Formats: sequence, structure tokens, C-alpha cells
Amino acid sequence: MALAAPDSQIQMNPLDNIMRYTLPQHLPDALFRAYDIRGDAALMTPDITYALGRAIASEIRVINECCAVVGRDGRLSSPALIPHLQAGLLAGGVDVIDLGVIPSPLMYFGTCTQETQCGVMLTASHNPKHHNGLKIILQGKALTFDRLTLLKQRILNQDLSTGQGHYSTRDITQSYIEAIVQRTHLKRPYRVVLDCGHAAGSIIAPQVFEALGCEVIPLFCTIDGNFPIHHPDPSRAENLKHLKAAVLEHKADVGFAFDGDADRLGVICNEGHTIWPDQQMMLFAQAVLKQHPNAPIIFDIKCSQHLEHVIEAAGGQPILWKTGHSLIKAKMRECNAPLAGEMSGHIFFDTPWYGFDDGIYAGTRFLQYMDDYAASAAMLRETLPYSASTPELKIPATESQKITAMQALAENLPEGATANTLDGLRLHFKDGWWLIRPSNTTAYLTVRLEANSDAALNALKQHFTHWVQQTCPELDLSVI
Ligand SMILES: [Zn+2]
Repeated sequence: MALAAPDSQIQMNPLDNIMRYTLPQHLPDALFRAYDIRGDAALMTPDITYALGRAIASEIRVINECCAVVGRDGRLSSPALIPHLQAGLLAGGVDVIDLGVIPSPLMYFGTCTQETQCGVMLTASHNPKHHNGLKIILQGKALTFDRLTLLKQRILNQDLSTGQGHYSTRDITQSYIEAIVQRTHLKRPYRVVLDCGHAAGSIIAPQVFEALGCEVIPLFCTIDGNFPIHHPDPSRAENLKHLKAAVLEHKADVGFAFDGDADRLGVICNEGHTIWPDQQMMLFAQAVLKQHPNAPIIFDIKCSQHLEHVIEAAGGQPILWKTGHSLIKAKMRECNAPLAGEMSGHIFFDTPWYGFDDGIYAGTRFLQYMDDYAASAAMLRETLPYSASTPELKIPATESQKITAMQALAENLPEGATANTLDGLRLHFKDGWWLIRPSNTTAYLTVRLEANSDAALNALKQHFTHWVQQTCPELDLSVI
């Protein structure tokens, strides 16, 4: 079994923290994103992190709760920041249950199974290593931008609750593992390579798959916030090459990769090919629709057009929605959907799980699917429609460039395009579509293209490049 780095053993009691804080007069806008607080960790000063804890505590008190589960990822800045966050929660009158160094799904699991439906996770997910941030759950719901703005207003208006919460630590790892074991029934053992990217999944993912009887080949399953081998972001092909090589070398049944906080999944089949998240969703949707006929299945704006067709063919209702884990969770709740997924690798199972995005649980469901159909991962991949498409391509852009570019492009739509403006610009043409949207978490414009054939994809790329060059000549399109 992989051992966590010594850092994970450190449990500083925030009550020993004797720091005196000053509530900030200004807050950096760059920290308040569409569905998280996230940005350069240097922006999260001790005073700001403490104030965020106080503001979250105030919101928790408003909904008549008095407790939160709190976790942190394995980033270099996390050990220094967590005492300030916890001090703020405690001084706001909220009890803190410290879950230690965990992936985000463990924090979510805590809000579904412990005595509170509130939780905070100190993580910047797949963002660069010098970033950090907060994922916040109140009454079982992820905060969206409006409620994140309320937190900001509370701090600036000094509208903050006071009190003295109680601090305790708790390890919920075993109950999480047991919950997955109870829901998984494999007929044979599997050889599985796990690439945790030296991130927060390192501690628990190998234990989960071993508990399912798998032979686990761990890859980078120790915590190291420098992410020395590759960045923990399985949505990028270059971050999957070690996993591909290991799956082939060890003749493994499948390889799974997780992002910085293990709420996202990457899959490599036994023949070394990537099964992208929208393809994973095609498989998961077919399985879920057997249990939930006619159910709505939600997927984000970046996903393949084929996913819509597969869901319809399996008798489900496809619902295209905005990118972002909190937006998808809210839509899932609104539609009572049993399954949702995003191209970035967030997969959300409502039953028999809890509706939160969990890369580790999604990996176990993938194994279950292989087992149920007695099919190898490569065989499953071959059942999927062929897609001439690009992965997510990222055009570097500052915050202001993102805004001006999107405005200019929206005012200069190409001829023959049908535009979907739900989230960015998804333009459909006779032979395919492209999407361009501003990333809410990183300094990029995200682009994806898909067409009916390789030739049509090349033509679509040229059309796209011409359109953007004409409209926004300042953008660097070398990734297209
Ligand atoms: Zn993540």
C-alpha cells in the first residue's frame, strides 16, 4: 500500500493559534470565481483566510447549523493556511470537525454522513501548484457565485457572527471505503494502475481499490505539492502518458488518474487508449438508464454531440448544461437526475451514491461496468461512436482579454452557424461544432471542436482559426 508523506500526519490544533487577525478592508476579485474561491495562494493572506472562515461560519449560523467538516489537499500552501480558516470558523461560533488531508469527495461524503451538512475544503483542485482556494458546502449544496458574493459582502461590511466553536479531529476514511465496498460487487479481481499525481487522492484511492480485491499498481501515490512528475489534471493528454505506459507495461485491466483533489477521473483502457470523460458518460448513462428508465442525464457544454445521441438511444433525456461543479450539482437537484458529468472529468452519481463528484467512486463504477458486461475496457471503448474531436484546448488569456474576446466573437458570428450561448459560444455547423468559453478557474479561453470526420475536423479548425484571428488578432492560437 502507498504511504502518505509525513505532511499528512501533521494535525495542528487551531486553538493553539494565538495570531491576532485584522479584518480586511479589501478583497481581491480574482479569488471569487464562478463556483469556488480560488486563485494565487499569495492572495489568501492569513487575515483574508481567517475572514473567509468567519464569513462561512456566519452563513452556517444563519441556516441554524453549528458545525462544519473541514479538509485540505496536499498543496504546499495548505498546511499554513488551514489554521487560519479553522480559526475563523471557530471564532464565528461554528464547531470544526477536522478531517485532515483528504480528497474533496471525502469532505462531500462527510457532509452526507456526519452530523452536519456543511463543509469546507481547502484546495485549488487542478489549478497550478502555487494556487489555493475553498470549496464550500452549505446544507448539502455547493455555493454558486451569488452566495460566494454574499460571503465577500459579509467581510467588507464586517457582518460576521461571533462565538467560540469546538474543535475536534475525525478520520472518516474507513466509513468511506466501506460505503464503496457495499455498493460494488465484482466477480473477479482486476489489475488497476492508479495515477494520483502526487496529489490528495494518494492517501485513499489505493486503499479503496485494494478493498475491492484489486491488484493496485500505484503511480505517484505519495503527496508532494510540487507535483514533480506531471500536473494532476487528467483532462490534458500530456498528464496521462505515464499512466498509459504503466497500463501497457503491467498488462493492467485499466488505469485511472485523478486530479489535485480527486473529484475528477481520467481513464486509460487496457490497450493504452484514453476513454475521455464524455465517453465515460456514454457508458455510465447506459448503465444508469437501465435502473432509471427515461431519466434526465446532465452533461456540460464541452461534451460530444454523440453523448446526446447515446442518451436518447438508451431512452434517457439529455440535458446540456453549463460547466462548473456547483452549477451541475444544482441542475441535477432541480431535474432529479441520477447522473451528470463534465468533460473535465467530474462525474456525479446520485444513486447509489450521494450526488457529488467523486473521481475515486466513478473509477469503481467503471470497474463495475466492465464486470457487469464481462468486457475489457478496450472492448467497451470500441462500442462507442467514433468521434473526430479535439480534447480541451487552452488559449492563454488574461481576465480582461477573456471578456473583450468573448464580446467581440459574439458580435461577429460566422455565417451558417447556429449559436448556443448557454455558457460561452457553442456554434453548430452542418458537419460539426466548436465551443469557445472563458475558463472560470484558470487564465485561458477553453476551446473544443468536434466533426463528423477527420477531414471535416481539419476544415472546422481552419474555419475557427480564421474567425478568431480576424476578430481577436491578439490571441495566440498555436494550440489549435
Ligand atoms: Zn478537482
